[in-house]
Amino acid sequence: MNTLDGGDHVVVVGAGLAGWRLVESLRREGFDGALTLIGDEPDAPYDRPPLSKQVLAGTWPLDQTRLATDERLAAAEVTLRVGVGARALDVATTTVHLDDGSSVAGTHVAIATGARARRLTLHADEYVHVLRTRHDAERLLRDVSSLSARRRVAVIGGGFVGAEVATSLLARGLEPVVFEMADAPLVGPLGPTVAGWLRRLPSEAGVELRVNQRVSDVTSSDGELIVHVEGEDSFSAATVVVGAGSVPNDAWLATSGLTLDNGVVVNEHLMATERVAALGDVARFTWRGPLGEQLVRIEHWQVAADHAASLARYWVRGESLPPLVPYFWSDQYGRKIQLLGHPHPGDDVTRVLERDDGRWLALYSHGAVVTGVVGLNMPRQLTLSRRLLESGTSLDVATRDAPWLS
Ligand SMILES: Cc1cc2nc3c(=O)[nH]c(=O)nc-3n(C[C@H](O)[C@H](O)[C@H](O)COP(=O)(O)OP(=O)(O)OC[C@H]3O[C@@H](n4cnc5c(N)ncnc54)[C@H](O)[C@@H]3O)c2cc1C
Repeated sequence: MNTLDGGDHVVVVGAGLAGWRLVESLRREGFDGALTLIGDEPDAPYDRPPLSKQVLAGTWPLDQTRLATDERLAAAEVTLRVGVGARALDVATTTVHLDDGSSVAGTHVAIATGARARRLTLHADEYVHVLRTRHDAERLLRDVSSLSARRRVAVIGGGFVGAEVATSLLARGLEPVVFEMADAPLVGPLGPTVAGWLRRLPSEAGVELRVNQRVSDVTSSDGELIVHVEGEDSFSAATVVVGAGSVPNDAWLATSGLTLDNGVVVNEHLMATERVAALGDVARFTWRGPLGEQLVRIEHWQVAADHAASLARYWVRGESLPPLVPYFWSDQYGRKIQLLGHPHPGDDVTRVLERDDGRWLALYSHGAVVTGVVGLNMPRQLTLSRRLLESGTSLDVATRDAPWLS
């Protein structure tokens, strides 16, 4: 790998967390060549996690989510081109073609186009909300701000974003009702055991959760939205928000010749070809975890940030950072759920710590090797357990050493 020098020009496509952090990390590593950051949203890079939390609850103005302040943009000496999408990539010439007909030719390209909210096919889709962007948040805020107290809002999908939206709507004095397709929320990412432990969080917080609900359509009638659920009475709501997961933004690369398979496939250095990399939510990367190498795509804030740091180190110095330990948090129903590692939902689960006030910490394991640590309101204990995932640790050794008690 030839490291970057002052004659190079890095073109970063996607002005979200991963793209912006890459720009800053490249400068921090000492890169003094040209940098261009291209984003299809009209805004300078901003942070998404607060959108479903502080912004929707009404405790932060939207502007507080901004990552790239004017001072930081100036310090990064980056050419920022927002409000224009990339439509194609020529890998041989590392040239990015934009929607406005112009092109940017660099020496290296970083693909950081993230993911978008999955939309359902609904008759009243134009009135239904998703929450991925600042624009989505503005639209949702406009809608819910006009509702009187205790109006019912349907939240379709009880996953992380759905649960956070319900929590914030409750804080605004509205009455969210969560429709979940499985028999408990979060079974997909966390597996049935942990999802079972979390099942009572909504009702304890005062949010109605309806499980085993397959929503077939949303229609509109007399200013209300009607949620149709297979085998159930329909439900009338003032507003509907869908949290049905997300899809990687890789369609613009269809003609590039890159391998696209639920994201841009890259190696352990995040490289797709010699001069093209992908990082963050859009990257399907080779990850060295406790069970060996796996090809994964992980939609976590910390993974996007860590990707940016490791790609910058690799491009500027030709060095690798230690293998990534994925980390995720979610603030929902007045609690904090945190997960370290990338366990399979079918992995075994062992509770290792439990408090009278309902807080707990548990280990995921596969074949007696620890694959994850999950906690409910146990931030310190979870952080102390990180080293279990930095190298393969057996469940026996983990429970004997109990790093969460140190
Ligand atoms: C509401 C919400 C709450 C979240 N909460 C948490 C949380 O609590 N904890 C956690 O770990 N993670 C959370 N996440 C996930 C976290 O925000 C993402 O993992 C992170 O934003 C990924 O960063 P990224 O830069 O890879 O992608 P993105 O943030 O999606 O940025 C990609 C950017 O590229 C742009 N783009 C797409 N296509 C093109 C194109 N063709 N040309 C130019 N630009 C393009 C997109 O519009 C976007 O601006 C949350 C996400 C959302 C939406």
